[in-house]
Amino acid sequence: MEKPFLLMLPGPTMIPEEVLEAGRRQMISHRGKAFAEMFRRVQEGLRTFFGTQQEVFLLSTSGTGAMEAAVVNVLSPGDRVLAVEIGVFGKRFGKIAAAFGAEVDRISFDYGEAADPERVGVQVREGGPYRAVLMTFNETSTGVTNDLPALCRAIRAAQEDVLILVDGISAVGALPTEMDAWGIDVLVSGAQKAWMSPPGAAFIALSERAWAAAETARMPRFYLDLRTYRTYAQRGQTPYTPPISVVYALDVALARMQAEGREAIFARHAELGAYTRQQVRELGLSILAKDPARASNTVTAIRMPEGVDAEAVRARVLAEENVALAGGQQDLKGKIVRIGHMGAVEKAHIDRALAALKAALEAEAKA
Ligand SMILES: *Cc1c(COP(=O)(O)O)cnc(C)c1O
Repeated sequence: MEKPFLLMLPGPTMIPEEVLEAGRRQMISHRGKAFAEMFRRVQEGLRTFFGTQQEVFLLSTSGTGAMEAAVVNVLSPGDRVLAVEIGVFGKRFGKIAAAFGAEVDRISFDYGEAADPERVGVQVREGGPYRAVLMTFNETSTGVTNDLPALCRAIRAAQEDVLILVDGISAVGALPTEMDAWGIDVLVSGAQKAWMSPPGAAFIALSERAWAAAETARMPRFYLDLRTYRTYAQRGQTPYTPPISVVYALDVALARMQAEGREAIFARHAELGAYTRQQVRELGLSILAKDPARASNTVTAIRMPEGVDAEAVRARVLAEENVALAGGQQDLKGKIVRIGHMGAVEKAHIDRALAALKAALEAEAKA
């Protein structure tokens, strides 16, 4: 008999049964009272995990759509911005800004490293002034979590009025996040990561400073113009048809998250992250994240031994054990295997994934 499928990607993540069930309900009017009530509940739930008093808006896009919304709502062509790059997703943020005409400076760190707050602060002080700094909270491509509060402090100290835009797609909902207290101006996330929901919705919140910038920003925007979303949210609506099935799912997922509690969720992810890393080391494998203190609690990137093709290992894990692991992206393809452990993940899942990885590595060694 075929083994049950186990999805261990850093997004999309596994969806609990009751959340899946919620997603199959009949459609309702997105302009009616029932939708408005659900929409407001979802906004409230998201807000708790964003750590903000601001409203959180829902976009019918994947996470990247929300990154684009972050850029086009507060920037103008010709604005000088700094992209802090520690992996693929940090680079993407800079590319989006460049595509809309920003002048992008880049500060890059090696794969496996977190951004050094001091170096970033110096770059802002000496290379600036910048209109914005673009950063990844948790770099999913390398399994590294940036020290976001320290980065925000260093950036603010270097330039008080700079906008801080953060891709929190694989962090918010799993890692402690305080948008307001840390001084983040734009924060985004996506349904298919820690929120245990299907892909198709992304979330974004703006600080007062960012809303002021949105009034004068001149990058082209229509579908993603957040001023329209703000107007419609007053009625418990989105301006355009929302992904109603995803909102059903999110409503149930967020109720589960509220029941478990913010602190308990953060503690569970911290424990699962540490457990995964410990088990990986016991297999004699090394972790891409260089500083153990900055290793991600939502995704672990594992280096393959010299001469072992990560893609062959992954294919074997799927074929033999029916477990889906993620590979490396771009330069890291073939070199690493990534295990997602955000959302509805339990120790037993990690044990099964790592047992499958161990068996595949042994088989590859013989092949
Ligand atoms: C998954 C992810 C993205 C991309 O999200 P899509 O939903 O695929 O557009 C961007 N940034 C980070 C940090 C991610 O983990």
